[in-house]
Amino acid sequence: MFKPTEEFARELDQQDSLRGYKDEFYIKDNQIYMDGNSLGLLSKRSEQRLLEVLDSWKNYGIDGWTKGDHPWFFLSENLGSKMATLVGGNPEEVVVTGSTTTNLHQLVATFFKPEGSRTKILADELNFPSDIYALKSQLKLRGLDPDEHLIRVKSRDGRTLNEDDIIEAMTDEVALVILPTVLYRSGQLLDIKRVTEAAHDRGILIGWDGCHSVGAIPHNFHEHGVDFAYWCHYKYVNNGPGGVAGLFVHEKHFGAEPGLAGWFGSDKTKQFDMEHDFTPADSAGAFQIGTPHVLSVAPLIGSLELFEEVGIEAIREKSLKATEYLMTLVKEHLSDYDFTIGNPTDDKHRGGHVCLEHQEAASICKALKANGVVPDFRAPNVIRLAPVAFYVSYYDVYKTVMILKDIMDNQRYKQYKNERDVIA
Ligand SMILES: *Cc1c(COP(=O)(O)O)cnc(C)c1O
Repeated sequence: MFKPTEEFARELDQQDSLRGYKDEFYIKDNQIYMDGNSLGLLSKRSEQRLLEVLDSWKNYGIDGWTKGDHPWFFLSENLGSKMATLVGGNPEEVVVTGSTTTNLHQLVATFFKPEGSRTKILADELNFPSDIYALKSQLKLRGLDPDEHLIRVKSRDGRTLNEDDIIEAMTDEVALVILPTVLYRSGQLLDIKRVTEAAHDRGILIGWDGCHSVGAIPHNFHEHGVDFAYWCHYKYVNNGPGGVAGLFVHEKHFGAEPGLAGWFGSDKTKQFDMEHDFTPADSAGAFQIGTPHVLSVAPLIGSLELFEEVGIEAIREKSLKATEYLMTLVKEHLSDYDFTIGNPTDDKHRGGHVCLEHQEAASICKALKANGVVPDFRAPNVIRLAPVAFYVSYYDVYKTVMILKDIMDNQRYKQYKNERDVIA
């Protein structure tokens, strides 16, 4: 049981085996960073490894591709094999490449095979817009009308998806399912095993968007037979703005011809033969396209050292405890105000952030920021708060709620306009 006191927050921190990791990150004094689900913070390790990669350019020039501490030619595969631990893949099933959206394009171009009456893609009405734009354009490229061929499962409450509704929509017209592991707004975690099995029982391939879970929640993509997955590293994996993303392709699909071919998908021993016939790698590496953005991969080297030390299980354990603590404090201290907890509250369906809904969410977010808490606003009425295990303490969670209470008690949010900024 959580007690709503400052003393208790301090006690939780005393018992926290991850408490030392806060010093590994750059956090401003007097700032509580609750926005790691949108852009994770810079760690000293990531900074160090980025500087080392710059040094290898400085020292080796072109030879940096094969020399130095982090030879660039193998970086995407080497880091992919480390990322595999976080997503539950075999080392060859994961590669660090592209962006979320370009990886989705690649994977749909590869695995969407409309045939006969199976011509539809099943998605959901709550997914992130970029995924939907990509799916619509992929359909158009095949000459299929998105209005007819993109099915979006409806949400019953505007926040979450019902897994039975998803499964019911898996008809024999569906060729491919694309779903988020965790919904970006409400933080709902879907049962990946159950939904994947349901798709396969119906002869449908399934791909998962892991943007809001990778780095916060352990996955078992290989064991669950997931066909493919893709995610970014700049949220919970702290690889920096625009940092290179990741993808997983199950080994059962090795040898599939990439829909969007490029020379960095080559078998590495053949790449520099410079043949016009493409020989794809016999691994997830085949789904790379062009030269990796080495400087935007580099921070991941340091970040993954931290994950390796701590383990994703310990991160999830703290995250679940911290989000539960946050919800308890909200109920205890903010019951006078009209906040609704919009995320699923059970551990099985709760992601890494808490979703607080309020009519005045935009202005409350501005007031939080002015008072030392960095939250995340999603239109029209959502405040997302992510107590990231590496760098948010239990005291930070307590303090966040106290600051929020002060903002509400004194109506400090009324100084701000209740509308979103350019980035929100
Ligand atoms: C963050 C996020 C994206 C962003 O895609 P980029 O290609 O990195 O811009 C896409 N989809 C989801 C679900 C996200 O959470």
